[in-house]
Parts: sequence; structure tokens; C-alpha cells
Amino acid sequence: MDEKEREQKTETVQAGNGKEEEQEYEKICYICHRPESKAGNMILMPGNMCLCHDCMQKAFDSVMGGGMDFSKMDFSRLSGMPFMNLNFVPAGNTAEMENIQIPKSQKVKKKKSAGPGFELKDIPAPHVIKSRLDEYVIGQERAKKVISVAVYNHYKRVYAESLRQKKIKEDVALEQQEVAIEKSNILMIGPTGSGKTYLVRVLAQLLDVPLAIADATSLTEAGYIGDDIESVVSKLLAAAGNDVERAEHGIIFIDEIDKIAKKRETNTRDVSGESVQQELLKLLEGSQVEVPVGSNQKNALTPLKTVNTDHILFICGGAFPDLDKIIKRRLNKTNSMGFGAELKDKYEDDPYILSHVVNKDLREFGMIPEFLGRLPVTVTLERLSEELLVKILREPKNAILKQYIKLLEMDEVKLVFEEGALGWIAGEAIKRETGARALRAILEEYMLDIMYEIPKDPNIGEVTVTRAYLEKRGGPVIRMRG
Ligand code: ADP
Repeated sequence: MDEKEREQKTETVQAGNGKEEEQEYEKICYICHRPESKAGNMILMPGNMCLCHDCMQKAFDSVMGGGMDFSKMDFSRLSGMPFMNLNFVPAGNTAEMENIQIPKSQKVKKKKSAGPGFELKDIPAPHVIKSRLDEYVIGQERAKKVISVAVYNHYKRVYAESLRQKKIKEDVALEQQEVAIEKSNILMIGPTGSGKTYLVRVLAQLLDVPLAIADATSLTEAGYIGDDIESVVSKLLAAAGNDVERAEHGIIFIDEIDKIAKKRETNTRDVSGESVQQELLKLLEGSQVEVPVGSNQKNALTPLKTVNTDHILFICGGAFPDLDKIIKRRLNKTNSMGFGAELKDKYEDDPYILSHVVNKDLREFGMIPEFLGRLPVTVTLERLSEELLVKILREPKNAILKQYIKLLEMDEVKLVFEEGALGWIAGEAIKRETGARALRAILEEYMLDIMYEIPKDPNIGEVTVTRAYLEKRGGPVIRMRG
């Protein structure tokens, strides 16, 4: 490389560095001097001047007050801020306004009725709810019964409350001693894969109400990194197609609620534990919350909508590991006193130990009393036995086996599972300790080869999955057509 070439090369490197360096700096708002990282995206104005959305909005609002003639303004030049709330319609210049469209995900439906929006006869009776749940959820008989009654009562309360509000609105005299029904939010305790989320999903489907499923581990106290508490209501609003009225009759399921237990032995501020429980209180008991539409973060550009959580059914679920030990300790303590002292290990292998839970145990676990007070209905789900897991494989309306059978039916091949094979799959699922969740994973592992090989040969008419195949001692039994 000669001298000239080297010089040219260093020049280009320096020019490149200059550009890169420029990119390392943040843009600053010309008015409020906040950097991009705090104020959000900047709008670039003529003369390389940057403005943040908030200042731009304020400028518009103050100019509005001054009575300026906007009909002569060119809105098409306001690039980079398509959703800014301009708060006015320019006289005779609506064509430009049409370009500034609010996305559908941020539009909110108008309220239709002042009443409850449904009739008393529309609420299915507890036995009807339970029988519909039976079609999908295997076992967990007591949990299904408790939930059916709680849900029935909840919607009766919604109906009664809405009628009361309607009377107040229409100035009709209320009965002197009208009984106020309390909210029946639900706390669901059960091991992983016992059907907590599934139960709630089926419930929402059969009631035809919107459902939002949130994870308590992602929630943090307002102002800290993580999702704000109100984001769970935002999710519900989105699930209801931004129809506030529909969202207000929906269900919010907060999973992993045991993860927000009070942290023991901590010197730092507990922003994801006890304080999240505190912040959830208002939501659970019913309050008006302002939530961003079409987003889970509040900012100047997302429209806000007020949602009343009073009629929303909250279900909090968690596995509460080691809660069984707390319950056993308490039971053993009370039973080992006095003349009627029972044997100490009576509860050692009790599969229904969780059903003995009382508030005291949950407080010891780390849930605060105010929080528990707002979840008056406690439902416990048992660990699924091998027998129940086999039923789950075979019996529900959309059972996994039925799905595989249907898939092969389309190739005109009959799929059969040996009884012993089902027992083996259930036993394997128990070993993995993730309840019914493991069933699908195990089946997928073993069905892959069958689903791959069978369509290759059109003469195959029947395949039997045997225990020997699952134990890797042989192959599936294949029978040809005719
Ligand atoms: P978790 O209790 O951890 O919330 P899930 O409800 O997510 O467990 O269960 C995982 C999957 O296992 C569900 O999607 C469902 O297919 C199946 N399942 C779990 N429990 C049952 C049950 N009792 N009856 C039928 N299927 C179940």
C-alpha cells in the first residue's frame, strides 16, 4: 500500500467514526431537554430541531386555545407522530385528517346498555356448569363443584349489582334493607399440571366471557422494571375486543400467585412480592382503573380507558410448593395434644393434604391477610394419579389420543393403543413431575416416527402402539389392508 492509499483509508475510517459517534448520542427535546431514553421517540423538525411527543402535544393544545386557523396547515408533514391526539378537526380539511388514523387495536367500543347486559336465566346453574366442565376436565371433582357454585354466585351478584346501579341512575327508590352480595374471587391451589389453567380456560369458554391469563412473576410495583398491575386489565380489554362492557364481565386468571409471597430474610425492597400483593388489593375488591388501550404501557400516544373491576372475576392460581409441609406441621401439632392424640404420620402420605388448608397456613407461606381476605373462595386440586392420567389421555372431548386417531383417520389408518402402553405413558408422566403437562410431550416423542413412516406406505391399514414399543423393546404392530 503506498502512502497516498494509506492516507485515504485513514480518512474514511475517521469519517465513519464520526457518524458512529453521532449515533452514540441521544437526541434531546428542544423544549423540555429530556433525552430520547426518557421522553420516547423524537419528532424531527426543520432545522434539525427535535421535539418530544409531550411537548408537541402541549404546543398544539396551547395553539388551539389561541384560536388559530388550522384549515391552512399541512398535516401530512407531521411524520413520525401518526397517532398524536390533535384534539380538533380542521375546518373544511377533513381529507388530511383521514390519513391520521388510530389503529383498530386502540379503538374502544361504545357502551350499549345501562343494565347488566344479560338475563338471570342466561347464567347456567352450578350443575350445568359442572357437567360441562366434566366433559373436558378429568377428576378434581370437588374443585369443579366449588368453582361452579362460586361462578354462579358471582354472576348473580353482577346481575343484582347492575340492576341496583340502574335503579340509582333512574332514581327508583331502593328497598330499605337491600342485601349486598360480596365478591367471590377464587384462590386455586394445586400442583403443576393438575389442570388449574385448563379449568379456567374451559370455564371462560362455556360462559362465553373474555379471559386474560397473566403471570404474577412478571408483575412489579409501579415504577419498577416489569409489568404494572393494571396491565392485567389491559390484557382482558384486548381479549374482549376493546369492548369495555364485555371486559367488565370477564375473568382474569393470575397464575404463579405463590411467587409473590412475602420474601423472607431480605434487606432489599420487595418490589415483586409483598408490594405486588398490596397493589393487587384494589383491583381484586373492585375499583376504577385507567388502562391503556392496545398496549400494556401508558404513554402520551395510547388512549386510556376506565375499566371497573368490580364485576371482573379474579382467579389466582399457584402450586404453593411446600405448603403441604406447613399444613402437616399444623395438623400434627393440634393432633398430638391431649388424650385424643393421633398417630404423628397420619398425614404423611395423604394425597388430599392440600384440601385441609386454612388461611393461617397461607399466611405462614407469605401471603398477606388483606390479600387472602379478597379471595374468599379457596379451591384445591389434587396431584393426578396414574389412573386419572390414563383417563386424561383417553376421555376428554379433545383428548390427546382422540386427536392422534383423527389425524391418522385422514390417511385411512386405524390407530390403536394397548392398555399397557397407556399405563406406561402415565407412569412416565408421574416420573417427570409435571402432571398432565408431560403427557403430550411423551406422546409426541413416540408418535413422531409413526406419523412420519405410516403415510409412506398406502397399504398400511392399522397401527397398534404397544408397551414394548414405548420401552424400546420392539416396534409398533402394523397390519396391512384387506
Ligand atoms: P396447571 O395446573 O399447571 O395450570 P394446566 O392447566 O396448564 O396445568 O395443564 C396442562 C395441560 O394438561 C392442560 O392443557 C390439559 O390439556 C391437561 N390437563 C391438566 N389437568 C387436566 C385434567 N384434570 N383433565 C384434563 N386435562 C388436564
